[in-house]
Amino acid sequence: MEFKKIGVVGAGTMGLGIAQVCAQSGFEVVFNDIKMEIVDKAVNRITKLLSKDVDKGKITAEAKDATLGRIKKSENVEDMADCDVIIEAIVENMDAKKSLYQKLDAICKPEAILATNTSSLSVSELASATKRPAQFIGMHFFNPVQVMKLIEVVTPLQVAQATIDAVMDLGVRLGKEPVPVKDSPGFVVNRILTMGSNEVPFMLHEGVATPDAIDKCMKLGANWRMGPCELNDLVGLDISIAIRETLYAEFKEPKYRPSPFLYQMIRAGFLGRKTGKGWYEYDEDGKIIGINRSVFK
Ligand code: NAD
Repeated sequence: MEFKKIGVVGAGTMGLGIAQVCAQSGFEVVFNDIKMEIVDKAVNRITKLLSKDVDKGKITAEAKDATLGRIKKSENVEDMADCDVIIEAIVENMDAKKSLYQKLDAICKPEAILATNTSSLSVSELASATKRPAQFIGMHFFNPVQVMKLIEVVTPLQVAQATIDAVMDLGVRLGKEPVPVKDSPGFVVNRILTMGSNEVPFMLHEGVATPDAIDKCMKLGANWRMGPCELNDLVGLDISIAIRETLYAEFKEPKYRPSPFLYQMIRAGFLGRKTGKGWYEYDEDGKIIGINRSVFK
């Protein structure tokens, strides 16, 4: 199947990166969220990122304008009607995603492929909520999408081989390294990563070390490129807890149980970089200015 137009639903952390990468790879993009002001904010952020690349000489000013020219902003899901593939990156909530897919299923052309960027929910269950389970697949991008090479192409039992082939090909056209993995809780990366990073909120609560000390230990002692607290903030504490809850519910293994401290952080509104505070505090450009002094007094 020849893809020309890609729909991206959800203009948060991940949708923003996915829309940028798709437009930079030459695809027409319909970029949707529930409110136009959210899409406007995301496109402003993309513009800022592309301008930085122009300043650094990584891309030309013409390429930046052409990329932005390929992004059509939308607050009506009906705008997805003529897209060849729709990549969904809305909140990590099964009911919200199912309700969106039922709408997309009714609106989209029959041959269109529906893809989810879910980190932890069952792709098979989402596929079953549509009338086109053979054309439903997971495209699990990593954060920040503009930088990270991997896409886990998550294959539920119902998916057709033609859909897998088309999406693997799309991943390559987006300049990524797509890797097929079976639909299973946490897929590959998050299942392994959660094993280690799940200890972090327990250790922080016990006062074993501060977030910056834990990050330094893991960077210098285990050669991690980014410390687990910084990574947790980048991903979002709400997303991290959703991943742990899914793994815990599916495998019934205590090793995946989320720390009560993580729930406290979320209830306090400390979701990470996107809310300006998580384990660290951030300035307006998303740069760390120190550990979260409200929590670590
Ligand atoms: P986010 O909270 O930053 O953004 C979600 C966006 O979806 C918001 O802008 C919200 O307004 C919008 N939205 C909610 N319901 C909608 C609807 N019905 N229609 C259109 N837009 C809607 O979340 P995020 O971190 O970008 O995560 C999005 C998805 O990507 C989740 O499924 C998450 O598990 C997955 N994911 C996240 C990461 C990460 O590092 N944050 C990495 C890989 C995958």
